[in-house]
Amino acid sequence: MTRTLFIGLIGCTLAASVGWAVAPSYSLSKAAAPRQTQSHLAPPAAPPSACRYSDKTTYFPQGSPTYAVLDTALRLPSGWKPASLVKISAGATLQPSAAKAWRDMRKAAKRAGVTLHAVSAYRSESYQLTVFNRNVRRHGRAHALKFVARPGHSEHQLGLTVDIGYAPGTAVTSEVLVHPKTRNQKVAAWLGARAWRYGWVRSYPKGKVAATCYESEPWHWRYVGPAKAADVRAARVTLRSYLWHLRPQ
Ligand SMILES: [Zn+2]
Repeated sequence: MTRTLFIGLIGCTLAASVGWAVAPSYSLSKAAAPRQTQSHLAPPAAPPSACRYSDKTTYFPQGSPTYAVLDTALRLPSGWKPASLVKISAGATLQPSAAKAWRDMRKAAKRAGVTLHAVSAYRSESYQLTVFNRNVRRHGRAHALKFVARPGHSEHQLGLTVDIGYAPGTAVTSEVLVHPKTRNQKVAAWLGARAWRYGWVRSYPKGKVAATCYESEPWHWRYVGPAKAADVRAARVTLRSYLWHLRPQ
């Protein structure tokens, strides 16, 4: 179990059973908005495509990969990498916008007595290939396909995503973050309540595998900016569903 959870952390898990469930509702009211932000939601449209394995190049909403859907079917163009990356901790880098948001969020958490650590941030396509192949060798291709994002499909390649832990050097697992008896409950609770204010969205919430294509990952947070993070929160949809509605029509 521990091994499987750690594999999920480094590769980001894939669900064994996937498929689109219900079209999300995009009705928003001012009362529902968590704070005064401008809604950027696109008009209601078709739901995201069903989760499946493919290698179609993803859409770049507003001409940028910042809001691109990356899932089991949609991937970045081959060899794509961020124009700029800055160090946020030993061995971890993010795009400058996400790096600043990470520092701001980390400071705010610290003031609340919560310590956040970046366990994994930017990953190149080649490194993701290494992670995937390692899991193929250890567990077989069928297993790897279920539990590890294939190269080009990882949100970590954007340089806008961080896996968050509670201490340096910890192999953070979902069990560590979500188990109510552990001291890391503070981390999960703080992130759930506050991360959106700094522009971060949890990509793979619990019980949403049909919509996200991935199992629950409490540690995996993607930066989309405070306005869009507020939109996602207010609309009560998954990030994948939200981003799908931003794609070029
Ligand atoms: Zn991750």
